[in-house]
Amino acid sequence: MIDLFGADRPTLENYFLELEDKPFRAVQLVKWIHQRGEYDFAKMSDFPKTLRTQLSNDEIFQLPQIEKVVIDYDGVVKWLFRLHDDNIIETVFIPENNRGTLCISSQVGCYLDCRFCATALQGFNRNLASAEIIAQVWLARQQLSEISATEEWKNKRWNDLPLSSKVTNVVLMGMGEPLLNVKQVMPAVRLMLDDNAYGLSKRKVTISTAGIAPMMSSLPQECEASLALSLHSAIDSVRDILVPLNKKYDIKTLMSACWDYIKAHNHRRHILFEYVMLKGVNDDDKHVRALIRLLGDFPAKINLIPFNPYPKLPYQCSSMKTIHRFQDQLKKRDINTTIRKTRGNQIQAACGQLSGEVQDRTNRLTRLKTIEFA
Ligand code: SF4
Repeated sequence: MIDLFGADRPTLENYFLELEDKPFRAVQLVKWIHQRGEYDFAKMSDFPKTLRTQLSNDEIFQLPQIEKVVIDYDGVVKWLFRLHDDNIIETVFIPENNRGTLCISSQVGCYLDCRFCATALQGFNRNLASAEIIAQVWLARQQLSEISATEEWKNKRWNDLPLSSKVTNVVLMGMGEPLLNVKQVMPAVRLMLDDNAYGLSKRKVTISTAGIAPMMSSLPQECEASLALSLHSAIDSVRDILVPLNKKYDIKTLMSACWDYIKAHNHRRHILFEYVMLKGVNDDDKHVRALIRLLGDFPAKINLIPFNPYPKLPYQCSSMKTIHRFQDQLKKRDINTTIRKTRGNQIQAACGQLSGEVQDRTNRLTRLKTIEFA
């Protein structure tokens, strides 16, 4: 038995060889499932009938069901998918005029316990299988072709222009820590990059980590995807609180892993550093100076993320004046810094917020305290 839906090409080539068939069947199957969107083996007309029966007998994967789909006024689409074991995961599509970014999940919940994160409130349940990871792209693409045909969608605008309904970028930035589920994440990423499947550019598939340093160093040996690090503070004592994983892999260790990644790519890539802006927590001059010291000489791009408030979390977003000031100071030091556009506020588009209404597996709410800094 094999998970054909989530298998990458090399795995499928071995599978067909074991069936004493031709390895080129792997390309055919990948094209059927991921390019043509056909998952009914009986309809794969260029396979012999006996092989089609074999595939149907061998496949074990059940497609997730759409539990809920919400479309915001600005075109952001959020799905809740129900898995075969009734777990719920989230996927979000953020359309602009000439690109569409799909934010996908890699685990059910997360146990890293970042203090500003709605997913952390649910606790950890299990890793997703590679099929469940790539199914989010498959389902989103199918859904978007239906959604974009509706009059409601055609009337939506971003910057007064029509919205893209194509998935051009994928970020593993939804529920879970992808580098704690590498074995399942990598086949899915390889399918995203495979020209016979989704054919996305390696610069447009991004793995976002809270900082699993050993895996950051070895990522270039696993796949060509881009890397983003959820930094949120350049000061260990603050990051220890916001991202408790920092106590295991501190900022110095993380930067060493970041350099490993850059060197493995012959200095031809940069790393995206995400920095959620939390009022009174990580947004003053002391923090911007620490960030400049840390990243002044590094091939970095910083993305400042206005915090998406959530009633169950004890933080507030920095004012836009503060965020722009923070950005200006970084730009003055020639550090490429953008501010993420706030999208999907009406539908709780930040990771874990919508599914958090469906399931909360921990008592963390009772443990949370507002952080105070001297
Ligand atoms: S921010 Fe990411 S790594 Fe941290 S708890 Fe949330 S899902 Fe997990």
